[in-house]
This record gives sequence, C-alpha cells and structure tokens, in this order.
Amino acid sequence: MLSKIIAEDLVSRLREAIDIKEKIVIVSHVGPDGDAVGSSLALWHYLHQLGKTAQVIVPSAFPSFLDWMPGASNIIVYEKDKEKADDVFLLADLIFALDFNTPSRVDKMQDALLNSPAPKILIDHHLHPDSFAQIVISYPEISSTSELVFRAICRMGHFDKITLECAQCIMTGMMTDTGGFTYNSNQPEIYNIISELIKLGVDKDDIYRKVFNTFSVDRLKLSSFCVYKKMKVFPKYKAALIALSMDELEKFNYRQGDTEGIVNMPLSIEGVIFSVLMREDSDKIKISLRSQGAFPANKVASDLFGGGGHLNAAGGESYMTLKETVDKFKKALPDYLEFLEEQE
Ligand code: 5GP
Ligand code: MN
Repeated sequence: MLSKIIAEDLVSRLREAIDIKEKIVIVSHVGPDGDAVGSSLALWHYLHQLGKTAQVIVPSAFPSFLDWMPGASNIIVYEKDKEKADDVFLLADLIFALDFNTPSRVDKMQDALLNSPAPKILIDHHLHPDSFAQIVISYPEISSTSELVFRAICRMGHFDKITLECAQCIMTGMMTDTGGFTYNSNQPEIYNIISELIKLGVDKDDIYRKVFNTFSVDRLKLSSFCVYKKMKVFPKYKAALIALSMDELEKFNYRQGDTEGIVNMPLSIEGVIFSVLMREDSDKIKISLRSQGAFPANKVASDLFGGGGHLNAAGGESYMTLKETVDKFKKALPDYLEFLEEQE
C-alpha cells in the first residue's frame, strides 16, 4: 500500500471536480518532455475511461522519441494548430495544468490558459507553484508528475481504470524524469509503483529502448561532437559547460529533442557535479543545468538565466549572444564555490 502523500481534502475536491465536469483540457509546459507528455496522456486515458471528453494541448512540439506513446497523435500542438486549440479552450469546463508551476511555462498559450473561465487543477512537482489554479496538487518531493497522476487516480479508488496504455504513459514519465531511474529515484515507493505498472502489462525495458535508444545517426554524432569538441571542464568548480551555436546544430541536421540528455554526459566524469548545456535558438539561448548532491542547479538557473526547476535539474533562458552567455556563466562560477564546500 502506498503512503497517502496527496492530502485527503485535495483528493475529494479532485474527485468532485472531475465528477461534475465533462469537457476537460489538459495542458503542459513548452518544450514538453517525457513527464509532461506522459502525465498528460496518462490523465487523458483515465478521463476517457470515465467517459469524459478530454484533450491534451501542449504549447510546442514534443520530441519524436515520444511519438510512439499511446494517444500521442491526438495531442494538439498550440504553435501548429492555434485556432483548433483556442476553440477547445473556449469549450473547456475544466483545465488540468500538469508538470509546471507558473503560467509563463506555457509560453504563447498563457493567455488562452489564464483567460479561460474554467476552473483549473494543478498537478506538479516543481517548487513554489503560482496561485493560478483552484486546486493545487503540488508535491516537489515526488520525482515526476506522472507518479502524482498515478497516486491521484489510486487515491480516487480507480486503480482498476488504469489501462495498459495509461500505465505505459505513467512509466514513461517516471522513467524520463529520473534519467532511467539513475537520479532523483531513491524513494522506495517508486519501485512499488513500477511493480504495479509491470503487473498491468507494461514492458519497462521496451519503453527504455524506445525513449533512450532511438537516436538518429546525426543525433549520436552530435552528442559525440559535444563531448569531443565542445565540452569545457572547470575542475576547480567541479563544473562542465557545452555551448552549441545554431551553425553547429545545423551541421548535424538538428531536430527538436536532439540535445536531450547531452547535459548529463559530463556528470559521468569523476569530480564533475555540475553540468550546463547552452543551445542557441533563433530567438534565445536555451540553457539546461544538471547537478549532483546538494549543488543547487535551480539556484544558478534563477540567479543567472531567469529560470528555475529542481535542485538537480533546472533550466533557463538568455537573450544575450551565445558568447556573452558563456562569459556570464564563467564569470559567475566562483560565486558557487560555497556549495561545493558543503558537498565535501
Ligand atoms: P530541461 O533542461 O530538461 O529543459 O529542464 C529541466 C527542468 O528545468 C524542467 O523540468 C523544468 O523544471 C526546469 N526548466 C527548464 N527550463 C526552464 C525555464 O526556462 N524556466 C524555469 N522556471 N524552469 C525551467
Ligand atoms: Mn516533470
């Protein structure tokens, strides 16, 4: 039996809201990752089991290694299909916001989300949720939103409504937000849930292959190029940086999602506990930060790059040039020495 992490009154309010609403929209964050898509589709499958009309809308495209997910072809990508998405928002009588803590994380979809009179339910595991939802199911100690969706469904007494497809989506989200259960994955109950999902028929190893082992040739070459040619290691600061320009990305026919995971690679070096990847986009530099132990990647993200996230996995953006962004980072590194000392 899982411990009752989600408060009882939240479970009853959630159950009540779902009971009386029929047209439900599920939204997640820009640059949706495995947990964003996994938790959204898991909830979508569940709501279908209840006979509800539900629609997942994400602000921007998700990486192609998630295309196989059951229900993925029904997702509306706001950037590509704004009119259709706006029509769905207009009809919505309930909106779920999954895997983000502040409306700005839905990017250009923010107005559609905030202007809708439909009540909103947040299910998330990021720190400090903004108050834009009527029901806030926020548990930062839980390693994925997909796990929270599983817990919420079970607490509503509906374990029997979790289909194989729903279970596959939950597994994907739990797996991707923990790097295949290699970080943020020491809560024993994670493995009780995994066990339940496998009993429902989920092939964990197959999902691992689909998510982590379906690189294109270009993508694998890009990751090698990053390590061989682009990685800078700063031993004194136990840090590493990879900064990629648009020109470099184009040489490897960059597709959305191709840099996913590259930021983790320097962490396999002994003595490196903080790794940063900067990727030049057409209008900004996107920054991914990863750390180990108590070193706060999210603090660096918010101090330097207007971002945030989790202690060990965070992100942000920069509107300077790539070179300026790199310089700003290098200059700031000494400021974080104190956290390295705490680590020792
Ligand atoms: P990733 O590096 O995979 O894009 O993001 C890792 C985590 O950092 C995400 O799960 C999210 O919590 C956070 N994150 C990424 N980008 C941003 C951002 O621009 N702003 C904020 N506040 N958090 C971000
Ligand atoms: Mn997540």
